[in-house]
Amino acid sequence: MTAAKTPDENKMALIFALRSQGFRDQTVLHAMEAVDRGAFVNDTFADRAYDDTPLPIDCGQTISQPFIVALMTEALQVGPRDKVLEVGTGSGYQAAILAKLARRVYTVDRHRTLVRSARERFDAQGFTNITTHAADGSFGWPEQAPFDRIILTAAAEDPPSPLLAQLKPGGIMVLPVGQSDTVQTLIQVKKTENGLEYHEIRSVRFVPLLEGMV
Ligand code: SAH
Repeated sequence: MTAAKTPDENKMALIFALRSQGFRDQTVLHAMEAVDRGAFVNDTFADRAYDDTPLPIDCGQTISQPFIVALMTEALQVGPRDKVLEVGTGSGYQAAILAKLARRVYTVDRHRTLVRSARERFDAQGFTNITTHAADGSFGWPEQAPFDRIILTAAAEDPPSPLLAQLKPGGIMVLPVGQSDTVQTLIQVKKTENGLEYHEIRSVRFVPLLEGMV
């Protein structure tokens, strides 16, 4: 019988899996190494917390596949002075990784239950630079705008215009776009002096960005 792996060994195995898929951004890998994905999944899935796979969370939502979290974080190019908005808190895992890289992370979800449990996880793990809010994030977070970086972890048909408006000049937004029931495209949007620049990253599958609160 093999002994159960420690959380550190599990985390190392996950980092190794990301590297072996060709992921090379050391800054992002360090941030992912510093966050325990096991603390963000329900006990039912504890034995799969470090697999490179999406998993169900409460309210019929999903914690993203670590490889996609890594790619999105890399595309966001977060720096230590950045103020970041995340739309789609879900489990809180992506926000926790961003919080290792940014000055402050503002994260919103339309499911109050998810926001509450993410908040408990952040507090239990000593995160002091994450602000949570239960709201429809399609409208962004006007009171806290503008943001250096904006990430959506739910798919919109197009980048929501309030979010584009809340992005600082020179800012970057990363989001999946497309119909919810088909394959979507992960894109990076840069706000430059000459307008918006769009870059396609790869195909993805995310839950849809929906209106209103639950
Ligand atoms: N980033 C998460 C994964 C999120 S799944 C993680 O690391 O676990 C997508 C989330 O987007 C879901 O929790 C869903 O409730 C949320 N969502 C969908 N539409 C939304 C909207 N309009 N405003 C805010 N959150 C939304």
